[in-house]
Amino acid sequence: MAYDKSIAAFEAAYQVIPGGVDSPVRAFSGVEGTPPFIERGEGAYLYDIDGNRYIDYVQSWGPLIFGHCDADIEASVIDAVRHGLSFGAPTTVETALANEIVSLFESIDKVRFVSSGTEAVMSAIRLARGFTGHDNILKFTGCYHGHSDSLLVQAGSGLATFGTPSSPGVPADLTKHTLLATYNDLESVEKCFADATDGIACIIIEPIAGNMGLVPAEEEFLKALRTLCDAHGTLLIFDEVMSGFRASLKGAQGITAVKPDMVTLGKVIGAGMPVGAFGARAEIMAQLSPEGPVYQAGTLSGNPVAMAAGLSSLRKLKANPAVYVELGKKAKKLVDGLKKAVESVGVPMVTEVRGSMFGFFFSDKPVKNFADAMENDQKLFAKFHKGMLDRGIYLACSSFETGFISTAITDEMIDETIKAAYETLKEIKG
Ligand SMILES: *Cc1c(COP(=O)(O)O)cnc(C)c1O
Repeated sequence: MAYDKSIAAFEAAYQVIPGGVDSPVRAFSGVEGTPPFIERGEGAYLYDIDGNRYIDYVQSWGPLIFGHCDADIEASVIDAVRHGLSFGAPTTVETALANEIVSLFESIDKVRFVSSGTEAVMSAIRLARGFTGHDNILKFTGCYHGHSDSLLVQAGSGLATFGTPSSPGVPADLTKHTLLATYNDLESVEKCFADATDGIACIIIEPIAGNMGLVPAEEEFLKALRTLCDAHGTLLIFDEVMSGFRASLKGAQGITAVKPDMVTLGKVIGAGMPVGAFGARAEIMAQLSPEGPVYQAGTLSGNPVAMAAGLSSLRKLKANPAVYVELGKKAKKLVDGLKKAVESVGVPMVTEVRGSMFGFFFSDKPVKNFADAMENDQKLFAKFHKGMLDRGIYLACSSFETGFISTAITDEMIDETIKAAYETLKEIKG
């Protein structure tokens, strides 16, 4: 495939935008080549400015469960646009979308809308701290919760469970309140509780981790977190910005029996428009301004055009919950096919599926946490990614991302993808 126009566009972008992109992963740093610049999407396909067509397994990193340009969602958005882009005043569509969310999530009595997943998590953490009166929070290495200061944390030296900043510009004074534990490792969590003698406001977890590849939490582990939280007056936050309406209609909460105290949402609830949300039982949400003292606000929060897109998408999903069975079957067909293709050239692969989410690692070892995920063959992944792109298959440009099936993806497209995988691997290994 030719990428001449994209290469030129990337160079032009580089002059005026840091790294040429508005979010780092888009720069293709983890794989070979430059990112295609996208002209338009249609159903399951992306078209770049060089005229190349790709089957899209990224779907804007999750939001587009109905693919590109879904007719119903598009009609709702156009209707909303005609009424005005923003008012900074209440609209009924916010209540309608809130009602859809409350009706699906047992742990949510009330929900507040924001404009991104980052903002949802940042606000949820402030509320957890305000509600419990504790400063410390606990997160897991390899889970991503957006780019707010307290969450840009990596493991400190030696045996410390308190994190150090993972980015310049984040004061160590802030991250010293963030404890780091190992995913699916209860002992590491117990150690945090022992170290944090002044209490922990919340444990935040992706109950189905999607930002270190796809790595689900074990049911026993989630149960144990619930027990620990109850014993210590700590809130359990499920970050379902990715898994919400993706793993099932109710996200991870449609799969696990464990109930969180708070939930953060994003991606699919905006259907491609900027929407995030956080919710909890009424007693917790009552602490949020203007009902309570914990401050949180947003000029464009609950934006009517974004709400219309989300409402249309959620109502379509609710009207046809069997869609998740279909999406799950397709995801399984895809990873089984990829595994067969990869193993035919003697390379081991581990795979995972949760509803419309899929993941694969070039590795022979089960992946339960970030350290396991790090052992995947990233060099091989980079070559695989390039070969697939050249064959019209648009996969996430990092081995630590999750793939997504949309309703627009057909069995024939999956067959085409598997065929491309055989060809790519033959090229790499042959
Ligand atoms: C994407 C994501 C976020 C951040 O959402 P943005 O809209 O990118 O700010 C937070 N948590 C999880 C689990 C995510 O997948």
